[in-house]
Amino acid sequence: MLARLFLGVLLSTLIAFFAWRRRSLSASGALAAAAVGSIIWLGGGPIWFATLGAFFVTSTALGHLAAASKQRTKREFSKGDTRDHFQVIANGGVAALAAALMYVSADARWLYAFAGALATANGDTWATELGILSRGEPRSILTWKPVARGTSGAVSPLGLAATVAGALLIGTIASFASGRPWRVVGVAVLAGTIGSLLDSLLGATLQEMFYCRGCARACESPQHHCGAAAERTRGIIGFSNDLVNFTATLAGAIIAAMLV
Ligand SMILES: [Zn+2]
Repeated sequence: MLARLFLGVLLSTLIAFFAWRRRSLSASGALAAAAVGSIIWLGGGPIWFATLGAFFVTSTALGHLAAASKQRTKREFSKGDTRDHFQVIANGGVAALAAALMYVSADARWLYAFAGALATANGDTWATELGILSRGEPRSILTWKPVARGTSGAVSPLGLAATVAGALLIGTIASFASGRPWRVVGVAVLAGTIGSLLDSLLGATLQEMFYCRGCARACESPQHHCGAAAERTRGIIGFSNDLVNFTATLAGAIIAAMLV
């Protein structure tokens, strides 16, 4: 068990270190990612770890790939491309919890919960990174009225296709850890898609939003990128984009466990 733990910590720390060097993760984000990776390796094993790796590698690559075309949009709405510990835990925390529970009591249900959580995180990330490239105007999931690209709660056909594809990739890799691979794939796609849609719905309703008067722009944090303080326009106080992501991945995990 010690050798296994050592290998997991070593691999996770190495990957987190290189991500920090490339500025894909902040220092706190790298620490959190190393912890998440170690727990998933120890509780689930190499296939679980590879599933996490697929999320990490594809979301980072898509972020860089789409960066040029969405530079303007991204700056208006969210944090930069360097992820901090809040973002890491928002996306990988529930998956790590499922792996920890697998370590405590080996039950197939935890694998489904793990896959559902990561399928949600990956589906949502792919939709955000690729949906922003959509040519048509995205619509609000709530009012179905056209909204600006990159707005929380904006959905488009391309974004939805990206969600399903992102969830499918996670389900496919995770399926190698199960004796019933097709079931894992199906559950991950369903739970990941529902979880991602819930993410959009929460983003359009309960997530807190702000407005920077100086720039005349809506944003997701109380301090706009220009440095000025932004005023709150709606949402539950403290229900940030990170908390929305965490809630959605938790929902994805619960839905997946219930579908089994
Ligand atoms: Zn501003």
